[in-house]
Amino acid sequence: MRTFLSDKLKETPEGREADDILRACVHCGFCNATCPTYQLLGDERDGPRGRIYLIKEMLETNTATRETQLHLDRCLTCRACETTCPSGVQYNRLLEIGRAAVESSVGRPLSERIQREALLRTVPEPNRFRLLLGLAKLTRPLLTAAQKKTIPISEPTGKPWPSTTHRRKVLLLEGCAQSVIAPRINLATAQVLDRLGIQSLPAEGCCGALSHHLSEEEQTLATIRKNIDHWWPAIEDGAEALVLTASGCAPTVMDYGRLLQHDPHYASKADKLASIAQDISSFLEQQDLEALGDMTGDESLIAFHSPCTLQHGLKRAGSVEALLARLGFRLATVQDAHLCCGSAGSYSILQKDLSQQLLNRKLDCLERDRPSLIATANIGCMMHLQSGTDLPVKHWIELLLN
Ligand code: SF4
Ligand code: SF4
Repeated sequence: MRTFLSDKLKETPEGREADDILRACVHCGFCNATCPTYQLLGDERDGPRGRIYLIKEMLETNTATRETQLHLDRCLTCRACETTCPSGVQYNRLLEIGRAAVESSVGRPLSERIQREALLRTVPEPNRFRLLLGLAKLTRPLLTAAQKKTIPISEPTGKPWPSTTHRRKVLLLEGCAQSVIAPRINLATAQVLDRLGIQSLPAEGCCGALSHHLSEEEQTLATIRKNIDHWWPAIEDGAEALVLTASGCAPTVMDYGRLLQHDPHYASKADKLASIAQDISSFLEQQDLEALGDMTGDESLIAFHSPCTLQHGLKRAGSVEALLARLGFRLATVQDAHLCCGSAGSYSILQKDLSQQLLNRKLDCLERDRPSLIATANIGCMMHLQSGTDLPVKHWIELLLN
């Protein structure tokens, strides 16, 4: 694709990067075929190719409009288009640059500003989020059955964190929403790793993905610096990996090196953290799993939902399914497994209608073979799926303890 970005813009790192990405696109439109929002809305501007054109036009003319903002907002950042693109166009990075450009020049209505600010001030802060959840629970008696399902229930973990010390140690990211709603996920992970002779050290903090996706770069960088300061002593003590149980956190943590590349105090530490960060599925694949015992006895059928961050962001499509099958679990075949469930970080709150349509489609596919439960790999998808089904929805790591 030919581009006409101004010389001034091309002198900036973002301008150069955007220009390279735009030039890689050959305008074939293959990506539209797997784009969930294009499938729902049928508008070229709500597909990846159209969004690429909108960003190109905006960068060339240096004018952003509310209309451009609307179509970029509707993007789930699911990255299905990247998986499909034969030319390797880095759509997600272009979208980040495009969204930042829109945010710097197009205002938002007050209601949107309040909603985004509320999200940024609560979700990444476990204490505030816990309080908010507590207040929401008080309103439960007044809600309909469908509304009740949208309020996540935080369950007590029951069991203690393993106390055995091992020579091998890893940091285990606690995360923000997950640490409040489902601490049982990391507890299960610590128990699985304990059986494998690996000690889990809780790594407190939010990864920064939420603020990053809302183009709040200062908040994102401050969060990452704080994380580095908290986690660094354990790295120096020999923690061999930073293990992530929410696939939604992984692409952001693995991008820490690039995000802080211009910070002389943090660049090398950020690089190191990014290099040792691993999704739990990838970490377990490299271990001898014999100590987990035989899991072939359970005949129940499991439908696995692969989060977009796992299959498109981390390029690990089929990896958890293969691991579960290797351990003896029976998995349902899921149609349209490449499509997003509509959770997509804050999307289920900011784009409710589209999110709900995607959820209904996804649940139809997951429930088709009448599984006894749905498993997934990301807290956001877990909560979103659970809001629409009576089947139990679990993190797949929990199945390894049954
Ligand atoms: S990231 Fe997902 S929603 Fe956005 S353009 Fe690509 S396929 Fe469509
Ligand atoms: S598939 Fe790739 S090259 Fe083709 S239009 Fe989409 S982004 Fe551009």
